[in-house]
Amino acid sequence: MGAVSVDLSGQAAVITGSTSGIGAALAEGLARSGANIVLNGFGNAGEIEALRVRLSSDHGVSVLYHGADMTRPGEIADLIGFAHDQLGRLDILVNNAGIQHVAPVDEFPEDKWDAIIAINLSSVFHAMKAALPIMKAQGRGRIVNLASVHGLVASPFKAAYVAAKHGVHGLTKTAALEAAETGVTINCLNPGYVQTPLVEGQIADTAKARGITEEEVVRDVMLAAQPTKQFVTYDQLIGALLYLVSDDGANMNGGAITVDGGWTAK
Ligand code: NAD
Repeated sequence: MGAVSVDLSGQAAVITGSTSGIGAALAEGLARSGANIVLNGFGNAGEIEALRVRLSSDHGVSVLYHGADMTRPGEIADLIGFAHDQLGRLDILVNNAGIQHVAPVDEFPEDKWDAIIAINLSSVFHAMKAALPIMKAQGRGRIVNLASVHGLVASPFKAAYVAAKHGVHGLTKTAALEAAETGVTINCLNPGYVQTPLVEGQIADTAKARGITEEEVVRDVMLAAQPTKQFVTYDQLIGALLYLVSDDGANMNGGAITVDGGWTAK
């Protein structure tokens, strides 16, 4: 468990894409801090239900699940409405759902481009559009958009992902300026490499795209860019998230916390 501690008792949080990886870890960090949670994402129904029950019983909070598909604007609006109706308020929105595909631009499949832009960028717009009126009416809210170091710098073979994450930064800044006097803050959280199921998939795909072994991908491609040579941990991201959603984060707006071991310092 990380060292950062914030009391979120009674607050309501939606975390998109929280059935796996970073989203599940951030949901646990918020639940551990006392927030009631709406989980979202795909996966095995039994495993999602087991996660929901475990988070609720471990942390003594309400944990609900909504299966909205982040490619469908109507379902995203329904997710936000569901959280507000069921939990009575909406204090925290973490836009985390994301996918990846690795290929050169001239071979990039159009359906993968469309899916990455829809899930990694457009869903952030749709979720904020639905959440902002609720948060503004409350006079307080916290929106944290999972971007990436790839929202700041590029890597080859990740055209759609890099474009989407740069877009998340621009969208975050615009929404933050619009909401600045409402008590709602909107920021990005930029992880470097975290060893999640998404990254596991990339190791094999990158090895294929570059014609090198999976060990070479980890050492020479992934952690080559991350000067600490350490994957970012879930607790390190939870600590940053808790600051952003805390009362002390009230003047942190339209910005980003980058947890990348020095990657973007180069
Ligand atoms: P992951 O694959 O472990 O989890 C992705 C989650 O998104 C899952 O819960 C999945 O079900 C959900 N999801 C995918 N498509 C969806 C859809 N259409 N509708 C609803 N949910 C959907 O990935 P992760 O590594 O935990 O990544 C989470 C976020 O962090 C992403 O936005 C990713 O770009 C970002 N990120 C990850 C890393 C990393 O190193 N893992 C680094 C920087 C940024």
